[in-house]
Amino acid sequence: MAGIYIHIPFCFKRCDYCDFYKTTNISLKNDFLKNLKREISLYNEFVSSNEIETIYFGGGTPSVLKSEEVSDILKEIRLKQKNNLKEITFELNPDDGNLLYLEKLRKSGINRLSIGIQSFDDKILSVLNRRHNSAQAKSVVENARKAGFDNISIDLMYGLPGMTEEKWSDTINQATELNVEHISAYHLTYEKGTIFHKKLEKGVFQEIGEDKSVRQFRLLIDKLKNAGFEHYEISNFAVPGKQSIHNSNYWNGVKYVGLGPSAHSFDGDKRWWNVADIRSYIEGKFIEKEEVLSDTDRYNELVMLKLRTKGGITTDELDIVGASYLDYFKKESEKFIKSGDINITGNAYRISEKGIFISDYIISELFYYE
Ligand code: SF4
Repeated sequence: MAGIYIHIPFCFKRCDYCDFYKTTNISLKNDFLKNLKREISLYNEFVSSNEIETIYFGGGTPSVLKSEEVSDILKEIRLKQKNNLKEITFELNPDDGNLLYLEKLRKSGINRLSIGIQSFDDKILSVLNRRHNSAQAKSVVENARKAGFDNISIDLMYGLPGMTEEKWSDTINQATELNVEHISAYHLTYEKGTIFHKKLEKGVFQEIGEDKSVRQFRLLIDKLKNAGFEHYEISNFAVPGKQSIHNSNYWNGVKYVGLGPSAHSFDGDKRWWNVADIRSYIEGKFIEKEEVLSDTDRYNELVMLKLRTKGGITTDELDIVGASYLDYFKKESEKFIKSGDINITGNAYRISEKGIFISDYIISELFYYE
């Protein structure tokens, strides 16, 4: 089992909070596509010797691509057995979702959309410097249904400047009214190098504070649970049977290759990542660096990825890394078991409904530092 991630590093406009690798120089698209095909061919052996279960187009903005370009990319990935392929996700900007485009994407094999809606409040969308408005956000979901998509995810953001609980509640209500299958919701982080971070430093924005953050997260969890969503990972909610297979595989340590500038790859023992620079990429320089994971790296990754999920982490998984890591985990988790922030069921340790509000703290406390 394995996955493929494809990073499309172009955006028509920069959102003020975003630190993903991207460029607004769309004139480089053809050169990028040529080199992407070359990079795909370097992984022919990986593709033919693994059951590729998922493909994920992320970015950047994959919807800067014409549907024909998406089809061409998919044709270049020479799968030996197409019937293992369960999920092909495509990230879409709401104002790129006209019906014809979506119909063509569906025909090319894309069977899951991830739409970057972020908010249904037009004022907030403009603070974020997004290209779309709330009306476009709704109409893209309608178009996607008409085009035959039955697996739609939307992204939302909270903890934003100017976002009251009422506004957040209203956005969640509008999201659930769309009857989508999956919602990912992320708390804003002020990443260095972004316009948001500069505004924070200058005092134009203030962080919203722990209490408000927790209230907004709680509101999200309660409302989505009431609407029939399962909270299966800290930031992810799905109706039954519609969890993201690609991301779940990632959290479960399934190997994947990442193609395109800044994309990361993992083969079970080693991680490597591509240059975060479109110019170098189109000159044919793909890989920036690789590292073989030490036992401590593997332990820390396991803790970081699995404790975020509903299934939690099992003693068997920890034992595979090493008995001393299992002992360390058991000892360090005791205080969280006592406080009710971690529950044990069978051999699985899971962050409880109470603990989820301090999950970052719990995870960092359970890390092993050499
Ligand atoms: S949030 Fe998405 S659309 Fe906005 S700049 Fe970042 S990658 Fe581009």
